[in-house]
Order: sequence, then structure tokens, then C-alpha cells
Amino acid sequence: MLSTPSLSAVTTPANLIAPYGGRLVDLLAGEEQKLELKEHATHLPSIQLSMRSICDLELLAVGAFSPLDRFMGQEDYQRVLDEMRLSSGYLFPIPVTLPVEPSAQFHLDQEIALRDLKNNLLAVMTIQEIYEWDLEETARKVYGSTDLRHPLISEMYRLGKLHISGPLRVLQCPPHHDFRNLRLTPVETRARLEALGHDNVVAFQTRNPLHRAHEELTKRAVQEVDGSLLLHPVVGMTKPGDVDHYTRVRTYRALTDHYYEPNRVVLALLPLAMRMAGPREAIWHMLIRRNYGANHLIVGRDHAGPGNDSTGKPFYGPYESQETAEKYSAEMGMKVIPFKQLVYLPDEDRYEEVSKIEQTARTASISGTQVREEYLHNGKKLPGWFTRPEVADILADSYPPRYKQGFCIWFTGLSGAGKSTTSEVLTVLLQQHGRQTTVLDGDVVRTHLSQGLGFSKEDRDVNIRRIGYVASEIVRHGGVVVCAAVSPYRVTRNDVRNMVGSGHFVEIYVNTPLEVCEERDVKGMYAMARRGKIQGFTGIDDPYEPPLHPELTLDTLNHTPEENAHLVVDYLFAQGFLRD
Ligand code: ADP
Ligand code: ADP
Repeated sequence: MLSTPSLSAVTTPANLIAPYGGRLVDLLAGEEQKLELKEHATHLPSIQLSMRSICDLELLAVGAFSPLDRFMGQEDYQRVLDEMRLSSGYLFPIPVTLPVEPSAQFHLDQEIALRDLKNNLLAVMTIQEIYEWDLEETARKVYGSTDLRHPLISEMYRLGKLHISGPLRVLQCPPHHDFRNLRLTPVETRARLEALGHDNVVAFQTRNPLHRAHEELTKRAVQEVDGSLLLHPVVGMTKPGDVDHYTRVRTYRALTDHYYEPNRVVLALLPLAMRMAGPREAIWHMLIRRNYGANHLIVGRDHAGPGNDSTGKPFYGPYESQETAEKYSAEMGMKVIPFKQLVYLPDEDRYEEVSKIEQTARTASISGTQVREEYLHNGKKLPGWFTRPEVADILADSYPPRYKQGFCIWFTGLSGAGKSTTSEVLTVLLQQHGRQTTVLDGDVVRTHLSQGLGFSKEDRDVNIRRIGYVASEIVRHGGVVVCAAVSPYRVTRNDVRNMVGSGHFVEIYVNTPLEVCEERDVKGMYAMARRGKIQGFTGIDDPYEPPLHPELTLDTLNHTPEENAHLVVDYLFAQGFLRD
């Protein structure tokens, strides 16, 4: 039943559990081979890998998926779908494949260079198999659903229709420039764990910042088995919308630096691309952690859960992952430590398992939603019983309250509608409320940033996109920007909205009828347009497309510029962007 990985493999004798299948796969080329490979690859056709495939390649290369040593061929793939096993019989619950679009460059025995998104050469594959795969079958068997709300199922529709497989020679792991001393391979992780001197290692998988309850739980688990903790956060791909890994890793570091016994913890980052596959993923997490030297894995409620499907039902039951992990744990050589729900007892200032407290005991808890909406959004500091002050500070830095976040006011409307006039008043009021404000007025922008652009449709779009780009950078850095440009085309305005980020974009339609603008004719332009001296003038012989769902619409006939500017300020207060 056991097959030997076909490529060089290293054994790590230790007090720690052996890797799954006995040996760690190692696909990294030696120094001499590297030069040869690099030279060789210049003559080969190449493909650019997706983020997910880059993560998968890295974990294949370092042996994190041992005994798997390549992107799966058809036999492995089919057996993984049907039985969660490789063709060799080893457990392997998740397909790890390389999807590509059909192309003449893929044929058997062809060598192909695999590159990252910046075209760095990562590896060379000798194609031994090319096969079709079935989206619906994969979705049903691996994810137990075909519902597009599952992030991996919707992603599958964008994947290539073929899989290619064959032996890999890896020149380098994808380069990482962040937290380099925490990016440990299985061999390096094992060496650190071994140095701590405990036979038992409890791995903790996480994609969230750690709070006091997690700290308690991991410490209890370590104590229970008299072992060490492998704090193993995923920094490859997690669930869309998760806290970014830069922020998370800073919190993990603060905790391991200050609150864990240094001789009982190793913090290492795992560049895994999660599949959010619930039960199957839990088994995968056991396999991966075993390869990194752990013999216990903490598995909690809704482990690797993708949230709810389109009918509002969770994709997997709350304890399905835990039960499945337990079922396969003996075969995997791992023990599952169930994540027991802990609650805080304010009267005793300690955490306790829910099942062990008196019915009448006073308890306290803060949900993830409350963390965001009640605390971070309002600049309210998270209490010390809930999270360590260092962690609270890091989260507060990364998620400032709305009144410290950037936003973009986008005035649109006909020439002479009153955009510039209103934005002048508004800018003063924003400064008065303590917000540094940049003004990007169409007419002014056209004298520097967009100098030389005319009023053809193309030029106008370029102008608006330039303003949008600058605005998005200002907003990203927490600044306020007021833009006033005719911006006549709906599609382009929507592009800008997406560039800035919808929650930070306030589109304001300055709704002044053409007759009124023409009557005002501040610059005498309408008169010229009517006489045919200017072509393609918005409202005269070029269309203006009013916004369908602007955040605000201003009436300049019945309201003065001051009144309108105050309406905008009121709106910003209501949204939390300004405060007294
Ligand atoms: P835009 O920037 O939209 O091209 P401007 O602000 O340059 O328009 O011009 C609008 C003209 O209309 C100004 O001369 C302004 O004084 C006048 N105006 C009259 N009533 C209003 C109002 N309620 N809001 C804004 N502008 C007004
Ligand atoms: P956009 O970049 O959306 O076309 P801007 O606000 O940058 O709009 O520039 C519009 C201003 O340029 C108008 O207020 C008007 O004074 C002047 N202008 C010159 N030619 C045109 C034209 N063909 N259409 C609209 N505005 C024009």
C-alpha cells in the first residue's frame, strides 16, 4: 500500500512524530542543479501560476503535503474525490491539482516552466498527464455542495478545464519579504520543536487574531499533554474578508513575545491556500501539521467553515469537522483536541469551560461582529479581559474608527451645476471638523495631472480614472478627498467607485437642470457650444448620464451652496465619518 515518493526525500529522526508516510518530500533543487535548471528553463514554454497554485507549489516543495510530491495525476485525483485517499492508499482529503486552459503547448513529455505572478521562475514540470476534470463532481464530492456562495466553488468556474501533472523540480520557493524569520519549513519547524524537548506537540490552526479565550485554550491544551504549542496561522489564502495576515501576525508575535512560556511555543507561518472545506479540510490540517512535527491538533466548532450557503444554511454542521477529524485521527497518527468553548467569569476574573460553570454564573463575551462594529468602528478600546492590550492596540491601528478612515466625496453634474462652488464650502467645513482635505477639481486637474487631455470620450475617461486613482490612494491612507468633475459617464464613475472602495465613496449628484446651467453659463461655454464653436459639449451634443443610486442628490435651485454643503456634512456625521 505504501509507495515511496519518487523524488529525493529527507528523513528527520527525532523525538517528534515521523512525517506522514515516514519521510518528508523535498523537491528543492540543490545549488548546482539550480543554475542548470535556470538556464534550461529559458528554452521552455512557461505558465504563470495563480496565487492558489503558488501556495500549493510551495507546500509541495517543502514536504508539507507529504507523501504527495506533485500536483495530482488523474488516478490520485479520482481516488481523493471518491475516498479521500491517494492511489497509494494514504489519506489525502483535498485535491491539489494544477488547472490550465487547453493549449497547444501542453503535450506529454513536454517540460514546462512554472512562474509566479511576477514571472519569477519557480519550478520545472515534466508533463506526464493531461486530463479533464469535472467541476460539478468535484464540488459535490469535496465540498458537499454546488452552491456558488462557497468561495471555492465560485472560484472553480474561473479555473482551467484541464489538469496537468508530472514530476517537479523546484528552483526556489515563492519569494516572501514579510516576516521572514517566521516562515519555517517543516524541517525548520521540527528542529525548533525538537529543541524545546517535548515529545508532544499541539498545533493550533488559525486565520483570526487571537484573543484571551484562544490563549487560555491553547495553554490548557499544552498543559494537558505536557507538550509544546505550534502556533501555526495560515498566511496563504484564507476566507475572503478575513483580517489581513500582516495585522494578524503582529498580534501573534505580541502574544508569543509576552504571554507564552518561550520554551513551550513555536510560532511559524503556514503559506497554505485554505479551501474552506470543513470536514475534509480538518483532516488535511491534521496531515499538514503532522508533517510539521505536531501530534495533536486543536479542532473547534465550524473548523474551516465557509459560512452560509445561498439559502442561509451553514454548509457544514457545527461539529462535523471535529467528528470527521476524530474519525480519521488514529489513522493519521494525530490526536484531536476538541476546542472547548470558554467563557469569561467577570466576578472571578477567569475563563472557564461553558460546561463547567453554574447556571447562575455571570458570564461575559464579545462576538466578532461586536469587535468590529461596537468597538473598532467607534474607536472604543477592547477590554483587557477579552484581548491583551498589545493585541487591542494592533487591531485599533489596522482598523481605525470611521472618523479616522478616509473617504471620497465625488460631485458629478453638468458644467455650471454648482460642483466647484459647493465643494469649496464643503472643504472648509471638513477642515473645520478636523479632517485634512484634498480637492481635485476637474478644471484644475486638467492644468496639471491631466494636462493635454481633451474632451473626447477616451480623454474624459482617462481624466476621470486619473482623478479616481489619486483619490483611491488618498483614501487608502486615511485622507479625505473632494472631487468635482462633470464625469458624465456612469460606467466610468462606477469604476472609480470600485477603485476607491464602495464603503468609502460618496457619490453626490448636483442635479441642476440644463436650462439653469445654460442660463448661468459661468464660463460662456454653453453659448459657444450652441454656436458650434465647441464640439461634444456635455448636455448639448454629448450625453450626461445621471447616477442611478447616488448617496446624495443636491438641488441648487432651492438650496444655497452653504445649505447643500451642510447636507453633506450631516450625511457624513450619520455615516460616522465625522464626529464632534
Ligand atoms: P461646476 O463646478 O459644476 O461646473 P460651478 O460651481 O463652477 O459649477 O458654477 C456654478 C455657478 O452657479 C456659480 O457661478 C455659482 O455661484 C452659481 N450658483 C447659483 N446658485 C448655486 C447653488 N445653489 N449652488 C451652487 N452654485 C450656484
Ligand atoms: P470631465 O473631466 O468630466 O469632462 P471636468 O470637470 O474635468 O469634466 O471639465 C469640465 C469643464 O471643462 C467644464 O466645466 C467646462 O467648463 C469645460 N469644458 C470644455 N469643453 C467641454 C466639453 N466638451 N464638455 C464638457 N465640459 C467642457
